[in-house]
This record gives sequence, structure tokens and C-alpha cells, in this order.
Amino acid sequence: MSSLNKQKIVSSVPQQGFFGHPKGLLTLFFTEFWERFSYYGMRAILVFYMYYEVSKGGLGLDENLALAIMSIYGALVYMSGIIGGWFADRIFGTSKAVLYGGILIMLGHIVLAIPGSVSAFFVSMVLIVLGTGLLKPNVSSIVGEMYSKEDNRRDAGFSIFYMGINLGAFLSPLVVGTVGMKYNFHLGFGIAAIGMFFGLLVFIFTKKKNLGLAGTYVANPLSPTEKKKVFTIAGVGAAIIAILLAILIPNGLFTINTFISLVGILGIVIPTIYFIVMYRSPKTTAEERSRVIAYIPLFIASAMFWAIQEQGSTILATYADKRTQLDFAGIHISPAWFQSLNPLFIIIFAPVFAWLWVKLGKRQPSIPQKFALGLLFAGLSFLVILVPGYFSGDSLVNPLWLVLSYFIVVLGELCLSPVGLSATTKLAPAAFSAQTMSLWFLSSAAAQAINAQIVQFYTPENEMTYFGVIGGAAIVLSILLFALSPKIQHLMKGIR
Ligand code: GLU
Ligand code: ASP
Repeated sequence: MSSLNKQKIVSSVPQQGFFGHPKGLLTLFFTEFWERFSYYGMRAILVFYMYYEVSKGGLGLDENLALAIMSIYGALVYMSGIIGGWFADRIFGTSKAVLYGGILIMLGHIVLAIPGSVSAFFVSMVLIVLGTGLLKPNVSSIVGEMYSKEDNRRDAGFSIFYMGINLGAFLSPLVVGTVGMKYNFHLGFGIAAIGMFFGLLVFIFTKKKNLGLAGTYVANPLSPTEKKKVFTIAGVGAAIIAILLAILIPNGLFTINTFISLVGILGIVIPTIYFIVMYRSPKTTAEERSRVIAYIPLFIASAMFWAIQEQGSTILATYADKRTQLDFAGIHISPAWFQSLNPLFIIIFAPVFAWLWVKLGKRQPSIPQKFALGLLFAGLSFLVILVPGYFSGDSLVNPLWLVLSYFIVVLGELCLSPVGLSATTKLAPAAFSAQTMSLWFLSSAAAQAINAQIVQFYTPENEMTYFGVIGGAAIVLSILLFALSPKIQHLMKGIR
């Protein structure tokens, strides 16, 4: 986008009206609040829906398969951000992408709300994966579009937006989770659909007034010949895949496990290709090339961090369900409620961390050191679970141990997540700036693609080894990153 267009967009957005921020932030805050409400609400009950017996309203799937599906689901949701970013960038702009994405997500939750079979579940998964790919990276991009380059409210704007994400993620396990677990899973999914519907209403009815031209430009539109070429390739590709699947599936050569492995491979191959393309592009300068190299260890650390953080909604969710005392201090705790802990701690402690970084000023840890701290806490959050496991044997564990684990991972999340996106933006070569949002989400995608493989090894019998090995690996990687951080900082060529 030319700088003239950028200026035009900024001046079309009312620059005040939401806590001293552009009014459009209100629109984007509530759209994303409701989208995350529906996403995390759905995920808070989905794992239980998959492995609970049919007599209890579930699908009766094998527990480890359910855990693996949760992980590939998470991986695909963030991988599809590449497609969503591409559509916005080259065909219809970010605002339409958010709208279409929201509609697909709502439809996905509606399909889940209607009692159905495993196949209905997969249909809903496709809708939500594509919908989130369209909505999630693009709604964040619009936030960035509303501020001029010199505007120093920009970071604060993203922090407010981040609060919206976590407020949605906090409330939904309490609402969707309670209804879904206590009454009926489908009713729970229905509430997730209503949540997304509210998000769409906010977006549709306030975007014109609040967002001005933000989100309406197509940054790099396809020329008619390119369009023809792309659609032909996509059509032929889809046809080949459909034919292959039609042959392989009935013959038992393509099973859900093949799919899980395939996503696992894609989770690693896609970012690798990204790095190679960015590094080798003739548009990348020598300085930018050095920054790409610096970004690789950060990306790996980020993937390892999210691998542990995201197990909060898979492994730790089943741990809450099966290994934890749920009748505690006179109340009956729903296992879904544990999903509210991470966002709750984020909401409480994000301002504390923001204050801390300001207070430390120049003495604050460098970007690679913050990533290393993130990993350290992630590792500790797993090691902490070993303690009750060791002392309680087969009996149920005090839920406060889980609370502590979710708390510790949040300390890491607050070191890594808020700086992650901005570090990506600064370290990616200028020619790739439109894709930095997708690149950042790819670390979560890679994390969950790898999780899909490792969660299958989890059993209550080997839990000590499971948490010990993964937690230990994160800590070793963290130490390595600390040791390398001056070198990485040097390769970053002045970015801090
Ligand atoms: N939990 C955050 C969200 O849903 C972070 C996503 C990520 O980077 O994995 O927006
Ligand atoms: N902390 C996550 C995010 O920032 C939310 C969650 O895992 O529930 O959105």
C-alpha cells in the first residue's frame, strides 16, 4: 500500500472515542472479543464432547485420538491464516475477510449445535478453520491500519485489543463451559454460535462509522491474468486432492492418523519454506537477511512455548477432568472452568508486566531474553505438575496445583506473546510485511502440529515422564537461548 493510501485511511478513522483511541478500536475489540468467546468456549468443551461416552452425550472417541484432533484443529486454525491473509491482501481486503470469516465461524458452531455424528463435527471443523483463517489475522491487521506510523498510541492500542481477546477467552468457559458440561454439549456450542453472531452484529453495524476506510483497500490486487492462473491452479489442485482422497479413503489408505501425521509435517515444512523464501528473495537486503537468521531461534522458542501453553486446553483439560478433585471447598468445579484461568491471569498481570518493562526501561531483558524467560516459565509450569503426581499416587490431586501451573505459564506468556508479534513485524523483511501476522501465527500452528504427535503418548500412568521430559526440554532450550541471546541480538542489526 502506498504511503498516500495509508494516510488516507488513517484520516478516515475517527481518531478518538474509545479510551483515547480511535473509535474503530471499539468495533475491533468487540468483534474479536466475541470471536474468541466462541472459539475458546467451543474448545473448553470440545475435548470432553469428543471422548465422553455416547450415553453421556459425547462422541465416544478414544481419548488420545481426541487430544490429537484438538491439536491438529488448533494447528489448522492458525495455518489457515496464511490463506486468509492472502485473500485479504490480493482479492477482497481485510474488512470483507473479517465479515466472511465471522459468517463461516458462526455456521461452524451452528453445525456443532445440531446433535449429529462425527462427520458433522468434521464439517464444522472445516468451517471454523477457514473462518478463523479469514478473521483472526485480518482483524488484528486492521488494528494496525488505524494508527499512523508516528502515532505512539499504537502499542497501547494492541494491548487493549489483547485484553478483548482474553476477556472473551475468560468469560466463555464459564458460560459455554457451564451450560455445555451441565446440560448439554450442543446447547453449549449453540451459545458459541450466538456469541459469534453478536460479534458479526457489532462489526456490521459499526464498521462504516468507526472504521472509515480501514480494511477496505486491497493491498496488492491480482491482475486479471494472475486471477485466471491462480484459479486454474487452485481448481486443478482441489480436483487432484478430491480424486486422490476418493481413491485412498475407501481403501483405508488415508485415515485420521495419516491426516494427523500430514498436518504434523506441514507444521514444520510451511515455516521452513517461509524462511527460505524470505532469506533468498532478491527483495531482501543483506541487513534483513541477518534479521531473518536471528528470527529462526526465536520462532523455535515460540513454537516450544505455545506447544506447552496450548496443552492447557488438551492434556491439562483431561487432567482436570480425571485426576483432579472437582468437589473442592464446598463447590463442584466444572473441568471446563480451568480454561478461564489462563486468560484471567493474563488480564490481571498484563498491566503489571507493562509497568515492569517501563520501570526497567533500558535495563529490561532483550527480545531474545524475553523469549527465553517465556520458555523457562512454560517448562516450570509442567514441572510443577510433577509434585502432586509424585505425592498423591493414584488419588485425586488438589486443584490448586493446576491453578499454579496455569499461573506460571502466564508469566511466560506475558514475556513472550506481547513482544512476539512486534518482533516478527520488525524482523521480517519489508517485502514480506503483509504476511508477518500469518508468520507469527505459524509458530502456534507448528506448536500444535507437533503437539498432535506428542499428546498421543500421554497416559495417566506415564504422566511423570510426560511432564518431566517436555518441561525439562523447554528449560534446556531456554538456557540455550539465554546463552545465545547476545549473538542473536547482534544479528538483529539494531532492532530492540
Ligand atoms: N491466545 C492468543 C489468541 O488467541 C494468542 C494466539 C497465539 O499466538 O497463539 O489470540
Ligand atoms: N491467553 C490466550 C490468548 O492470549 C487465551 C487462552 O489461551 O485462553 O488469547
